Amino acid sequence: MSEAEALQVQEGLLDRAADFPLLANPVHGKTLHYLDNGATTQKPASVIEAERVFYERSNANIHRGVHWLSQHATDLYEIARESVRGLLNARLANEIVFTRGTTEAINLVAASWGRANLKAGDEILLTWLEHHSNIVPWQLLCEQTGAVLRVAPMTESGEVDLDAFRALLNERTRLAAFTHVSNALGTVNPVEEMTRMAHEAGALVLIDGAQAVAHQRVDVQALDCDFYVFSGHKLYGPTGIGALYGRKALLDAMPPWQGGGDMILTVAFEGSTYAPAPQRFEAGTPNIAGTVGLAAAIEYVQSVGLDAIARHEQILLDYTQEQLQRLPGIRILGTAAHKAAIVSFMVDGIHPHDLGTILDSEGVAIRAGHHCAMPIMTHFGIPGTARASFALYNSLADVDALVDAIGKAQSLFG
Ligand code: PLP
Repeated sequence: MSEAEALQVQEGLLDRAADFPLLANPVHGKTLHYLDNGATTQKPASVIEAERVFYERSNANIHRGVHWLSQHATDLYEIARESVRGLLNARLANEIVFTRGTTEAINLVAASWGRANLKAGDEILLTWLEHHSNIVPWQLLCEQTGAVLRVAPMTESGEVDLDAFRALLNERTRLAAFTHVSNALGTVNPVEEMTRMAHEAGALVLIDGAQAVAHQRVDVQALDCDFYVFSGHKLYGPTGIGALYGRKALLDAMPPWQGGGDMILTVAFEGSTYAPAPQRFEAGTPNIAGTVGLAAAIEYVQSVGLDAIARHEQILLDYTQEQLQRLPGIRILGTAAHKAAIVSFMVDGIHPHDLGTILDSEGVAIRAGHHCAMPIMTHFGIPGTARASFALYNSLADVDALVDAIGKAQSLFG
């Protein structure tokens, strides 16, 4: 028995790869070791089946028809909203708005709340750890309103400098928007504390949960945040579906951001009136099948258990960092005390893209590049990193395959 197999048994790690059909397919004739879960996750059979069954038995447009199928599809759509409410422990299902994903949810808040509430000189506080989708929408909003972006710096370990974050908050700060977990470094931010600080300064808080919801429990009431956003595809669900949680009083006061069918009460050429939230923010035919798939993904994750997933992934993280450090010439970026199972690293003398290509030929799928977090790369003075990011179906054998393949790359570049 290998060291990894022994540890796997001793720790009672999850063994769920068989639930994910794609993982059984070889790549380049080799067993696939899929370690690009930060980009997107594979889907369990139950999610694939839920979408298929929806199209076979339940497909119709929602909120429109009087016929049975339309009612049925509407029910499934609203049941999915309730699933998301449960996942985030929101107080009310109508605090959940369906979006295409994290990016669209942030753009929604920027376009709706931001344009209605910000004026020249107001400030939005971000951190240096943000994904581009939690930077660019705010830059666009600042161009439109004259508001100003402030950015809390990060430390060498890849953590938000909390003293600087606190010092940047002031009476002009209207919103603090920060990630729960950094996709590039794995840092888990102290989001509860950051939310408290922002609220003390009178600012609202938006948390980017794209890298958090699949890996730990999230409770928006305990966090006390005003907005929380995530993407279904990083949670074992379909692409093109995600959600925005918004505190009811805020959503109720926000104007529409896109106009069209389903978001109105009445339409006349003299002027239209709008549906209450969340329908007001869901113009046009939504990704109905996607919501059904997302609900199946939430059910799957909850059946495995988020605490069990978090524990499993922490063991994978520790083992990966330990094994990588045994190799010569490895530099791990992001050494925060509290990390999710994302390991960003550099190998001396091998460009991350070359490394990614060699690993791919060994069946090991990682990501190489700036991970849509260019400011982090600028901070470290590098063009990009290699990144291994883990999910509940990964095993210690995947880590061994990663380490072996890096060893092969090092001997090739020898
Ligand atoms: N925020 C973070 C932290 C991410 O990791 C990602 C995706 O990688 C996003 C936002 C954007 O997510 P999506 O492309 O699903 O909208």
